[in-house]
Amino acid sequence: MTRVSGVDPTDPWQLSGAEQEGRRQVVEYTRFLVEQVPGYERAFLIASAPRIGVRESRRLIGEYVLGKEDVLSARQFEDSIARCGAPIEDHAAGQRTIWQYVGSGDQRPTGRTYGVPYRCLLPRGVDGLLVAGRCLSATHDAHASVRSIGQCMAMGQAAGTAAALVVSAGCRPRDANIVQLREQLAADGALIGPD
Ligand SMILES: Cc1cc2nc3c(=O)[nH]c(=O)nc-3n(C[C@H](O)[C@H](O)[C@H](O)COP(=O)(O)OP(=O)(O)OC[C@H]3O[C@@H](n4cnc5c(N)ncnc54)[C@H](O)[C@@H]3O)c2cc1C
Repeated sequence: MTRVSGVDPTDPWQLSGAEQEGRRQVVEYTRFLVEQVPGYERAFLIASAPRIGVRESRRLIGEYVLGKEDVLSARQFEDSIARCGAPIEDHAAGQRTIWQYVGSGDQRPTGRTYGVPYRCLLPRGVDGLLVAGRCLSATHDAHASVRSIGQCMAMGQAAGTAAALVVSAGCRPRDANIVQLREQLAADGALIGPD
């Protein structure tokens, strides 16, 4: 129910303010439920989250930047290491949430998925580093789809598998053997596409 938007989470003052606002909303929603919604008359607040959750903050610019068109066209990539069927879920516009589904851009699910390229985990201009999860290389719109928990876990598996392979091969992450990486992920049960 709660929502705090328009905050720069890299600014500690704004982040603290957002946390205060979130707690204020929790108290207000509790009051509203108790006073207005039948069945909640004897409800009371036990706890709230220790920290406010942040959907989006810093992320790297990688060898590929996943974009809105990739999501909406259900694009597949030769170096896909994960797949995603989650819609673009954009919470940026005030109190509204806008959903745009993979493969159509409409508000209805299509059942299609797009691929998450390995290159989104590879920082431009930095060697020996892979990222996974929320800090991958993606635009604001694509990020609003690909940051989902299942995909963050899949990226973590891919980054870990890639790290093991490149250490064994004695090469840099950007020189990983993509065919071998995808074969290993598939052998381990990862769902990597195609659609
Ligand atoms: C309010 C909210 C609702 C959401 N709802 C959904 C949903 O319904 N479904 C869904 O799929 N996704 C949802 N998401 C998105 C999803 O939860 C996140 O994108 C995803 O969990 C991010 O995973 P991550 O591993 O990249 O990052 P995190 O889960 O943020 O993990 C990063 C970890 O690194 C730790 N860390 C940070 N700095 C350091 C450091 N210096 N040293 C050591 N550790 C450190 C942090 O403590 C944290 O445990 C939601 C997000 C928010 C904020």
